[in-house]
Amino acid sequence: MARVLVKCPSCQNEWVYRHGKARSGLQHYRCRDCHHCFQLDYLYEANKPCVTDKITEMALNGMVWVYVIPDEYWESALPSSSPI
Ligand SMILES: [Zn+2]
Repeated sequence: MARVLVKCPSCQNEWVYRHGKARSGLQHYRCRDCHHCFQLDYLYEANKPCVTDKITEMALNGMVWVYVIPDEYWESALPSSSPI
């Protein structure tokens, strides 16, 4: 059985544990030190940390506009119950 060394991408600590699964079915991990939750792989490119870092960098440099949508919008936009 092969073992994979998992490090926290936030603090590089190796003291992590499995923390359930994402909706995509991929394994979630959580750092015991900084409590950062992460995955080793992502189904969607936009969720990868390097993409988020690039978007943040572009926003800070004024290259893109970032809109923050309040939670109230999503709560009113989504149906209260999904059809079966
Ligand atoms: Zn950490």
